[in-house]
Amino acid sequence: MPAERRLVLVGAGHAHLHLLRHAPRLATAGYRVTLVAPRWFDYSGSAAAIAAGDLDPDAGRIDVAALARDHGVEHRIGLVADVDPAARTVTTDDGAWLEWDVVSCNVGSVAAVPTGVEVAEEVIGVKPLADLHRLRERLRQPPPGRGHQVSVIGAGPSGIELAAHLAARPDTDRVHLVEAGPRVGDFLPRRAAARLAALLADRGVSLTSGAAVTRVDGDGVVLADGTRTSHDLAVLATGLAAPPLATRPPLGGDAGFPVRATLQHRDHDDVYAAGDCADFLPQPLPRIGVHGVRQGPVLLAALETRQRGAAAPAYRPQQRALSILDLGGGTALAVRGRWWWLGRSSLVLKHRIDRSWLADYRD
Ligand SMILES: Cc1cc2nc3c(=O)[nH]c(=O)nc-3n(C[C@H](O)[C@H](O)[C@H](O)COP(=O)(O)OP(=O)(O)OC[C@H]3O[C@@H](n4cnc5c(N)ncnc54)[C@H](O)[C@@H]3O)c2cc1C
Repeated sequence: MPAERRLVLVGAGHAHLHLLRHAPRLATAGYRVTLVAPRWFDYSGSAAAIAAGDLDPDAGRIDVAALARDHGVEHRIGLVADVDPAARTVTTDDGAWLEWDVVSCNVGSVAAVPTGVEVAEEVIGVKPLADLHRLRERLRQPPPGRGHQVSVIGAGPSGIELAAHLAARPDTDRVHLVEAGPRVGDFLPRRAAARLAALLADRGVSLTSGAAVTRVDGDGVVLADGTRTSHDLAVLATGLAAPPLATRPPLGGDAGFPVRATLQHRDHDDVYAAGDCADFLPQPLPRIGVHGVRQGPVLLAALETRQRGAAAPAYRPQQRALSILDLGGGTALAVRGRWWWLGRSSLVLKHRIDRSWLADYRD
């Protein structure tokens, strides 16, 4: 029997949810597991639909406290403020600290603010998802005598989902999608991007592309050429970035905790990181949930094998993953490599995949 080791899990992102579900295996391997994370996990696959009011917030929630309890894991509800590799401690946001022999971080990402852009506090960022859900509350209070006027800054996957959903709402007067690139959907197959642009135009989304935003205020957006467009609400969807915990030295780097293919920190074998907060050194990975999901089993196996002194498994990212954009109005765009399909059946497929994944963590 290997010596008992204290394993502290920081955050309950996708990979750590997998560890929680398989915590008895970690106990068998000789770990005493403690999790520090908020009570609830919000699933991003449902985030745009929830924020736009199409789905109930519970549709994308996992009760982390119940999952930990049911699998014998001690759960401290809260956030981690610091991970110290020299003292081998984590400090929580209420000032408590815990010692670890092995620590793993899976704390997600934050909304990226592009260099040189000023963003007012009232602007709603796409992450953390609890912030994005504020949009739902704001949409409940339309301005007197007219519908909402919303700006969505950034036409990546989350900006497109949000703009499409908002434009499908009957109480929205105008959705303005502002994109720095030359057109919407450059990351999609060419004809899929054209179909998407047509759908957005049909729903009345006004698009400004090739536009550098310099300031986003609570009531308007300003472009580099001085043009100002007003709005009641703005959503910042200009990408995702590593959170402060993952960028702070000595463990963090600009793109997050630097990890090798084994998900171990570049300089510390006892520190692991997965998902959006990790900077996967073998190759840059997009910040999408699928990597966190697929890293879960690798992380679990890595923690087990280190107790046996066996070789650590490596994470090998899949080259092409299926992604499905929920566009509201009962339709979605499914894409895998050059293959794509826009229509109701894509949404049915998305709901089936999402429900099945969530069900694994709710029983
Ligand atoms: C609107 C929107 C839609 C998206 N849709 C999709 C999609 O359809 N498919 C897809 O693959 N990707 C999608 N993404 C990207 C996806 O959200 C991320 O890639 C994914 O959530 C990252 O997973 P993760 O496990 O790294 O972290 P997360 O899922 O973000 O989980 C991290 C957890 O850590 C907790 N946490 C944060 N800080 C701390 C701390 N200091 N201490 C303790 N706990 C902490 C958080 O509360 C959170 O529960 C979307 C993103 C957005 C914004």
